[in-house]
Amino acid sequence: MVTAIVGANWGDEGKGKITDHLSNTSDIVVRFQGGSNAGHTIINEYGKFALHLLPSGVFCKNVTNVIGNGVAVNVDELDKELKMLKDSGIPDPNLIISDRAQILMPYHILLDIYEEERLSSKKFGSTKSGIAPFYSDKFAKIGIQINELFANAENLKQHLKNIIEVKNVLIRHLYKKEEIRFEEVFDKLMYYKEILTPFVQDTSNFLQNAIKDNKKILLEGQLGALKDTDFGIYPMVTSSNTIAGYASVGAGIPPYEIKEIIAVVKAYSSCVGTGDFVSELFGDEADTLRKLGGDCGEYGATTGRPRRVGWLDLVATKYGCKMQGATCIAFTVLDVLGYLDEIKICTGYEINGKVTNKFPTPSKLSQSKPIYEVFKGWKCDIREISNYNDLPYECKKYIEFVENQIGIPIKIISNGPSRQSIIYR
Ligand code: GDP
Repeated sequence: MVTAIVGANWGDEGKGKITDHLSNTSDIVVRFQGGSNAGHTIINEYGKFALHLLPSGVFCKNVTNVIGNGVAVNVDELDKELKMLKDSGIPDPNLIISDRAQILMPYHILLDIYEEERLSSKKFGSTKSGIAPFYSDKFAKIGIQINELFANAENLKQHLKNIIEVKNVLIRHLYKKEEIRFEEVFDKLMYYKEILTPFVQDTSNFLQNAIKDNKKILLEGQLGALKDTDFGIYPMVTSSNTIAGYASVGAGIPPYEIKEIIAVVKAYSSCVGTGDFVSELFGDEADTLRKLGGDCGEYGATTGRPRRVGWLDLVATKYGCKMQGATCIAFTVLDVLGYLDEIKICTGYEINGKVTNKFPTPSKLSQSKPIYEVFKGWKCDIREISNYNDLPYECKKYIEFVENQIGIPIKIISNGPSRQSIIYR
């Protein structure tokens, strides 16, 4: 049984928490796209962690964690994260990494930084983790697959020389920075080889066999549908496909094996980086929600940047769930809204005088104005509740309205940051 856990919004929906929770009853957790450019916050019996590259199953000793071929493997970050787990007293995780995954190189990070610098006021708000240059290289066929480290060294040297020649033209002429040196980059690759050696495998083969053996597999998405390269708010998106449809490519399994797709929907909106955000809040209202949001405020798990916050946007969320192909919803961070007298939900956009509930193409987003419905708040703490029927009436009304509007069952409710704060319906 293969289940994908993916974001319906702009990321930071709480996918890590849901994955960590479901890992307990699963055999395998797979990361299939993105790199260490976003973080998953996990709070469990070991403490609080921000994972960037490792799958969220690393806390369960019976789980095999897979970094699939679709992931941008930043080996320095991987090493750092593994050390962080060790230092926190967590047993070494079962980890395997695809021999077809590509390596995120130090020059990808440099190029990301230089490009943001060059764009200046028009910058994307990149996390400067090298993700856009990495995926550009992958599709331009000048990336480095992990298996190359274990093959003919002369071929690898030739490949790398060719890449560096191209990179140095950009670095010298466009960015006017110091060129990168072949020897340094090659030595770094050999160092990466040492770190990667214990983990490298044909993970697609491993997963296809696991499917035959009826293992329980979770595919863990990074970011959300609205950051997907094709279906998100382009160009303010990430440089990989965040939708569940891509998971079969990024993990190397047949698409028809993904039987369940859990779209994680946040009870209010949050977004990092620039880009149109129709239901965004500003001023005091935003500051209060930002301060009370998440487990200790809405600040990026990777960058610490304050997240932009807003009301739940059902136009965007319904579209996000549709593009994910959601079979059910996990509705998260609901407890955070307990301080509000009134809660708004954006149910439509007004674009040039016309109201629509269809999410527009990115070029129309800046003309979209939110239409809101107002709900009475429940004004209490719901974190200790474990039974749906025990939730306050106004809270259930809020959940059921969202469910009816999206038209997909909300089966899981997350009412607190810790692993056990979950209500099943
Ligand atoms: P992810 O990338 O989708 O895993 O999300 P992040 O970890 O970046 O952000 C989600 C934030 O919400 C983190 O601070 C979590 O600890 C927190 N969180 C997750 N679920 C809940 C919840 O139900 N209630 C509260 N208060 N916080 C939650």
